[in-house]
Amino acid sequence: MSEKFVEILTIPFIDTNMDEFINQMLYPRMRNQEKTFVVTANPEIVEYANEHQDYKDIITNADYITPDGIGIIMASKWLDQPLQERITGFDLMNELFSIANEQALKVYLLGAEESVIEKAAAKVQQQYPGLNLVGHHHGYIDIEDETLAKSIADLEPDIVLTALGFPRQEKWTSLHYPLFKKGLFIGVGGSFDVLAGKVNRAPVVWQKMRLEWMYRLIQEPSRWKRMLVLPQFVWKVRRIRRKVQRS
Ligand code: UDP
Repeated sequence: MSEKFVEILTIPFIDTNMDEFINQMLYPRMRNQEKTFVVTANPEIVEYANEHQDYKDIITNADYITPDGIGIIMASKWLDQPLQERITGFDLMNELFSIANEQALKVYLLGAEESVIEKAAAKVQQQYPGLNLVGHHHGYIDIEDETLAKSIADLEPDIVLTALGFPRQEKWTSLHYPLFKKGLFIGVGGSFDVLAGKVNRAPVVWQKMRLEWMYRLIQEPSRWKRMLVLPQFVWKVRRIRRKVQRS
């Protein structure tokens, strides 16, 4: 199928919906045992990538960048190229758990604090008994260390979820990708914290009101500093919009 991308501040986002993304893009690749790297990006990631060329090279070399974060969807609307919907790391993770459950796929979970990953792994095992959880490890690691990466590659997982926060999770994937023969790699940020019940995901009403970011900020106030880049993101998108309108 033909894939459509929309550029937001030079970062190409896949324009699709969850169903199409899973069934027509990811699943056929998994069936063919084609390696796939997915980045779920929010405005903070876009800003960071535009300030760090090494990180930008990593994410623009991924197979797909999906819009995680309402800021990306709003920016696409301002630029008159509306993206269909948010595809968040957390939702993607849950969709993949269901597929893995039905098809006994091998899953590896890497990231979060030791107590969190233990709880998250137990929960996955309990909720998805058909899924083959081949291993898990906390995320407080030296991302350059090859020993752990090799031991994961030896398990030949079909799905590797990394929750080390950005930019570490994408750097880990990019560094160790060549060690793997197959596998779908996705950075899922704080998703294991939600899975383990350490933090709650925003209720659907908050999500619908586009206030998921605020809900998160209330639960984890230390995130406020990261959000300082948001006005800058909006300003840059608006500036491009004005240019487009003038030309
Ligand atoms: N984390 C980790 N190793 C680190 C730093 C963070 O495993 O060295 C975990 C952290 O415990 C949390 C997740 O990475 O579970 C970061 O979540 P965050 O919401 O900050 O993700 P981001 O939005 O930065 O991608």
